[in-house]
Amino acid sequence: MIDIPYGRQDVTQEDIDAVVAVLRSDFLTQGPAVPAFEDAVSKRLRARHAIAANSATSALHMACLALGLGKGGLLWTVPNTFVASANCARYCGADVDFVDIDPRTWNISVDRLEEKLVTAKLQGRLPDIVVPVHYAGQPPDQEAIWQLARTYGFRIIEDASHAIGASAHGEPVGSCRWSDITVLSFHPVKVITAGEGGMALTNDPALAARLALFRSHGITREASRFKYANAGPWYYEQQELGYNYRLTDIQAALGHSQLGRLDQYVDRRNQLARRYDTCLAGLPIRLPVIEPPNRSAFHLYVIRVDGDTSTSNHDAVFARMRAGGVGVNLHYIPVHLQPYYRQLGFGPGQFPEAEAHGREAITLPLYPNLSDSEQGRIIALLKDQLN
Ligand SMILES: *Cc1c(COP(=O)(O)O)cnc(C)c1O
Repeated sequence: MIDIPYGRQDVTQEDIDAVVAVLRSDFLTQGPAVPAFEDAVSKRLRARHAIAANSATSALHMACLALGLGKGGLLWTVPNTFVASANCARYCGADVDFVDIDPRTWNISVDRLEEKLVTAKLQGRLPDIVVPVHYAGQPPDQEAIWQLARTYGFRIIEDASHAIGASAHGEPVGSCRWSDITVLSFHPVKVITAGEGGMALTNDPALAARLALFRSHGITREASRFKYANAGPWYYEQQELGYNYRLTDIQAALGHSQLGRLDQYVDRRNQLARRYDTCLAGLPIRLPVIEPPNRSAFHLYVIRVDGDTSTSNHDAVFARMRAGGVGVNLHYIPVHLQPYYRQLGFGPGQFPEAEAHGREAITLPLYPNLSDSEQGRIIALLKDQLN
């Protein structure tokens, strides 16, 4: 039986009280709690606008729509991510391609991105959108990607589902300093949770209005945005084909309450990560390089078993950790190797760094309430197998 999962939410009495207060109020959805949560996140992360959604997957879809992605369009992301980072383009009828990861940071390789842009320009098939992913909570080099966007004319959606509370060069992830839109996730395994939930952040008021439009059926009730004459106080317009991607007030209250403990959570995650670093030093494993000005949110603590060892070693460590009650996991099976993407023409050998990562990576448990003694047990079990 797995008694230490790889991730786990922390729900306090304060969170429960906040949710109960909404249940007793007049609004369950689209009431005051959603904008209050949006305001708190946008202030905390220093973005001008925040648009909450019922998941990060929905927020990614809204972001692609807001940026005008459609049939014949093209989005690039990394293979080392959750499928949602790529699927958002498919929802819009657009094509997906991938950029391999950096073997040091396990984030998007800016060198591979630049090479691919040079080739794509020659072939007349530049991407409309690039989606860098903050893998495990570490920011990619957004500034360098922003420079490439200036040269090659693509838009940027940061998938920061792992990275609320992280920073790069002192800049909080989510500020959109080097992107058009940043997306967050509030799924229970992530850094803070709303049960389910996501958010899109931007500094562009026009994009913010379009994000809000796609969140709610493409409908606007703002008279200043109407295309036809306002017939009366009941009047609203559906201007685009939107969705119902709204977050409830119940979820927003939980997310907002959790936001108050963001620093505490990220500090604890970093503390646990440092102890793993220290105790695992000397074992035949590799860790990601975290570029010094970066602070990771440490959504995940991922190790890689030595590159010289075969997959059978990886699989054996996996099996024995799980047999010992430790819920190790794999982040990620490269997206281009999923049957859905293979059927679109992708296959093994195309993105060797992400594929090597997928054969070698093991996610160790990491969450704020992981106790020191539980962590000790995980470390001892791992040492047993790798020494
Ligand atoms: C979790 C996750 C998502 C999807 O988040 P949901 O809120 O569950 O829709 C997207 N991208 C990445 C990188 C994720 O880890």
